[in-house]
Amino acid sequence: MKVLPQSLINELHGIAAFDEQSFLAAHQQAAVTSVRLHPVKHSAAFQGNEQVPWCREGRYLTERPIFTLDPAYHAGAYYVQEASSMFLQYVLQQVLTDTRNLRVLDLCAAPGGKSTLIASMLHSSSLLISNEVIRTRASILEENMTRWGYMNTWVTSNDPRTFSKLPGYFDVIVVDAPCSGSGLFRKDERALEEWSEANVQLCSQRQQRILADVWPALKEDGILVYATCSYSPQEDEEILDWLCAEFDIESIQINVPESFDVVSVISPMQKANGYRFFPDKVKGEGFFIAALRKKEGTETLRQAKFKSNSDKKIAQQSGHLLQADDLVYVHTGDDQVSAMNPTHEPDWQLLQQHLFLRKAGLILGSAGAKEWIPAHEVALSVNAAKELNYISVNKEQALKFLKKEEMPLIVSERGWHVVSYEGLGLGWIKSLGNRINNYLPKHWRIRMEITDADWA
Ligand code: SAM
Repeated sequence: MKVLPQSLINELHGIAAFDEQSFLAAHQQAAVTSVRLHPVKHSAAFQGNEQVPWCREGRYLTERPIFTLDPAYHAGAYYVQEASSMFLQYVLQQVLTDTRNLRVLDLCAAPGGKSTLIASMLHSSSLLISNEVIRTRASILEENMTRWGYMNTWVTSNDPRTFSKLPGYFDVIVVDAPCSGSGLFRKDERALEEWSEANVQLCSQRQQRILADVWPALKEDGILVYATCSYSPQEDEEILDWLCAEFDIESIQINVPESFDVVSVISPMQKANGYRFFPDKVKGEGFFIAALRKKEGTETLRQAKFKSNSDKKIAQQSGHLLQADDLVYVHTGDDQVSAMNPTHEPDWQLLQQHLFLRKAGLILGSAGAKEWIPAHEVALSVNAAKELNYISVNKEQALKFLKKEEMPLIVSERGWHVVSYEGLGLGWIKSLGNRINNYLPKHWRIRMEITDADWA
C-alpha cells in the first residue's frame, strides 16, 4: 500500500475540492497511460481509442505496450504523454487568438512533451525555441523534436538567465518548472521516496529564480504559462502570488467545462487563477497550470541589420529533398546545411550570438564528392518531399533497421531510399544493388533485446 506524506495531505485540506479519501484511494491504483497523436503524420495507431477530453489528439490506452517495439513510435506518429499535461493545448487555444508569427519559448523542455504539443499547434510562420539546460536531457529533447519533424522548432541548451539577453523577444513563454514531483507519485516510485518538505521549499525558491531570470525575455502583453506536476501550494498558488507581487502581470481565467473535473483554484493573496488536476477526479496524474499576461512596459531587443546568407547552390543541390518551397538554405555548422522559413533567418542570425543552438531549422545534410548526403532528420520531417525514393518495410524489417541489424531486404534500384513503415519515414538506406547500407545514426539505435516473437 502506498503511504503518502501526511504533511502534504494536511496542506491539501486548504483546497475546498480536495477529498482525502478518494485521493488516497486513487494512489493505490496504477497510473493512466496516454499518447498524443501527431496531427500530420497519420498512422492507424490508437486512432480509435478513447479521447482525452481537453486534447483533440490525446488518446487513453487500456494497457502500456512496449513502445520501443513499435516502429510508428520511432517515426514520431505519436508521443507518449501524461494526459493531464495535455491541458496545455486547451489553455493555449484560449489565450492565443492567432498562432501565426509568434515566437514561443518552452524554457524547461526536456524530454519534449509540451514542446511537441506546442509545435503541433503553431503555424509554420511561428518559431518555437525548446530549451533544456541539462545537456544530457537536451540531447533527448533534440531527438524527440527531430522525430516530431517540424523545421520551425529549434533546440537550445541554456541557463534561464541567458534569455535575459533577449529582452521582449518572446510572445509566449512556457515554464514547466522542475518541481518536487508529487503529481507523479503513481507513475514514478522515486518521486515518493525522494519527496520531502525541504525539497518542496528548495523547488519553490528555484521556480522563483527561473521565472525572474526569464521574465525580461517576455514582451509586453506576452503570455506566461506556468506549470508543475506538484501538489504543493508553495510550488503552485504561492508562486502565482509571488509573480503578481513581484511583477506587473495579470492572471488569465480559462473557461473549463465542469465535465472535465479540473479543479479551479484562486491564489490566497493576489487572487490569481490556477487549474489543478487530481487523479481521483480526472483520468490523469497530478498537474497544475496557470496563464498570465505581462503588463509591464518592456524594451524590445533591436535586431542588427539583416542580410540573408541563403546559399543558392545548396538550394539546387538539396532542394529536391523537401516538399516546401520558398525556404532559405543556410550553413548552420561545419559541413552542415539547414533549411528554414525565410522569416526565421534573422532570428537565427540573432540567436546564435546569444544561445547555444543545438538545432536550428531542418538539417539537410552535406554535399559529398558526387552526390548530396541526406541528413537523418529529412526522413522524419513533415516537409520531406513525396518524390523521394521510399521503400516500404514490414515490422520485422523496420525493427531490424532501427536496431541496425542485417535487414532481409533487397532494393534493386541503386541510391538513397527512405525506409517507410506504414507510410511513415524512419531513416535512410543506400542501396548498392547487391547490398544496402543503413544510415540510421548510431545513437538512435534501439538497444533493447528483441526476441523472435517481437518481430511479428
Ligand atoms: N516540459 C517537459 C515535458 O513536457 O516533457 C518536462 C519538464 S520537467 C518538469 C522540468 C525540466 O526542467 C527538466 O527537464 C529539468 O532538467 C529542467 N531543469 C532543471 N533545473 C533547471 C533550472 N535550474 N532551470 C531550468 N530548467 C531546469
